[in-house]
Amino acid sequence: MAQAAISYPTRDEVDFVVVGSGASGGIVARELAAAGHSVVVLEQGPHLQAADFRHDEWAYDFNNELTWGTSKGNPQTFRKTENDVAELRETVCGYAHNVGGSSVHFSGNFWRFRPIDFMEASVRGRIPGTTFSDWPIRYEDLEPYYTRVDWEVGVSGLQGPWDPPRSREYPCPPMPVKGSDVLLERAAKQMGLTAYPAPVAILSQPHNGRPGCIHCGFCNGYGCEVDAKSSSMAAMIPQALASGNCELRTGCTVARVETDDGGRVNEVVYFDGDGVEQAQRTRAAVLCANGAETPRLLLLSESSRFPDGLANSSGKVGKNLMFNGSCSSSGLFEEPVNAWKSIPTTRVVHDYYELDPNLGFYGGGGIDGRHPSRGAPMLFGLLSGARTGTPSWGSEYKRNLAYQFSHIASFDGHTTSLPVESNNITLDPNYTDDFGRAAIRCTYMDHVDDLATMAWFLERTNELMEMAGATNIQGGYPENGQEGNVHLLGTCRMGDDPNESVVDATNRAHDVPNLFMVDGSSLVTGGRGQPTMTIMALAFRTADLINQAAQRNEI
Ligand SMILES: Cc1cc2nc3c(=O)[nH]c(=O)nc-3n(C[C@H](O)[C@H](O)[C@H](O)COP(=O)(O)OP(=O)(O)OC[C@H]3O[C@@H](n4cnc5c(N)ncnc54)[C@H](O)[C@@H]3O)c2cc1C
Repeated sequence: MAQAAISYPTRDEVDFVVVGSGASGGIVARELAAAGHSVVVLEQGPHLQAADFRHDEWAYDFNNELTWGTSKGNPQTFRKTENDVAELRETVCGYAHNVGGSSVHFSGNFWRFRPIDFMEASVRGRIPGTTFSDWPIRYEDLEPYYTRVDWEVGVSGLQGPWDPPRSREYPCPPMPVKGSDVLLERAAKQMGLTAYPAPVAILSQPHNGRPGCIHCGFCNGYGCEVDAKSSSMAAMIPQALASGNCELRTGCTVARVETDDGGRVNEVVYFDGDGVEQAQRTRAAVLCANGAETPRLLLLSESSRFPDGLANSSGKVGKNLMFNGSCSSSGLFEEPVNAWKSIPTTRVVHDYYELDPNLGFYGGGGIDGRHPSRGAPMLFGLLSGARTGTPSWGSEYKRNLAYQFSHIASFDGHTTSLPVESNNITLDPNYTDDFGRAAIRCTYMDHVDDLATMAWFLERTNELMEMAGATNIQGGYPENGQEGNVHLLGTCRMGDDPNESVVDATNRAHDVPNLFMVDGSSLVTGGRGQPTMTIMALAFRTADLINQAAQRNEI
């Protein structure tokens, strides 16, 4: 698709500035531009294309070429509690800084939330130490937009036995099952469970002008070399640009969102690729910078009118950060199972979506089949010696590596994460980035129920491994609490009460009528571990509601 190169002068007022071009930003840009609005997308990273991506483990797994952390001039700090001094880390809130954001290098597991996810607090009741709440919208409100993600972004799958109702079938059939996942399926059956085709944002066959997957094995942490992965870079940005109404400005790092005397957004201040400060005038702004960068930007945008940060009269900006929990069991099989091949996972067990309340803790999740090193031989090579106590160099090392790499599989649990106010993103008082912006400081300690859920899932993944016939089974979960994640959720939560939430049920800021937050930050609960399908559905819904409001002159 040819890129229509429209360019808007910064002094001219555009209809919308979209900050960030990731999973949510790409959709919002496409939808607003296709409706005829003038749109400027400000993205801090470069516009990579499929041809730029390589099977280069050194670049992606070790040198973090796609991600954005301390060594790239964007320091992040971490502490477990507000009483601790935060320590500098390479990455705490991990994400890719390029057009398409983390949808470029994610694994693409695309689970819809279920009806229960939107109303679980009223079903389960209060959970001490948390701000566990119902959403102000229901599954039915989002279903048409989930279906738009399926068809317009591109999802492969098959309606499973417990899936929520859908108004339309998946556009692409499920991906072929991997050898290792056949073992998961058999083990699950023996335990009275059902493993069914994993829904993924990867095309199993050509769709919307993009090709089907070539099963190269480099998905998780890598960009797709053939555009079969349904990133917003591959699926949405080309259409936004083709509308002729959207200008994509890359290498542009947003520093502040400014407001006029009436408290309305009037311009977005950013550093361009040469580090020169610019300001784009706009009628409205949509923040899609993710669950860590959006609250940071709002806190950086304090002013005399908004002394605690923009849109923060509730004091909730940055709070209620949710990561999702996880566990993993891996084991060796007698025959090669080649879990590294093809896409990260082809089967998922969802029997434990909601755990029995009688267990004494809240939780739930799903289990899928994986390779323990995400299919990366070098990364695996460094781990395999430690696993079996074999040498980490020489011919025996090579023999073991070749054997273990193809004979190993893991079964991973992906679990709930409760919203806790003291888990948050704030501005670090000691560190700044290359532009002088205060660094992200992350404070996080998993709620006791989240730890119990991970431990419970680990017992199940170990059982499944054993049932599948594996030996040398090893498993674990972050028993002392997570110290970082790539799921960044809840920090500008949605709600009807302006004292308890940052955006309303249409993703519009309670405090600022022409400001919207549409990324992972608006989620009220974190689902069961794969939030991006819901982030994208919310992006379609918000754009739709913005377009309707604009028609009524209500932005
Ligand atoms: C390795 C990996 C695997 C994953 N696997 C899965 C999975 O299987 N399933 C799933 O559901 N989720 C997965 N995720 C999570 C998923 O990628 C995120 O949930 C999703 O991308 C978040 O979308 P977003 O729109 O909120 O933000 P992002 O996709 O992170 O996009 C934010 C964009 O904003 C830009 N930006 C930020 N700040 C600024 C600024 N100040 N100025 C200009 N631009 C800015 C960033 O550069 C980025 O491009 C994975 C993530 C990673 C990293």
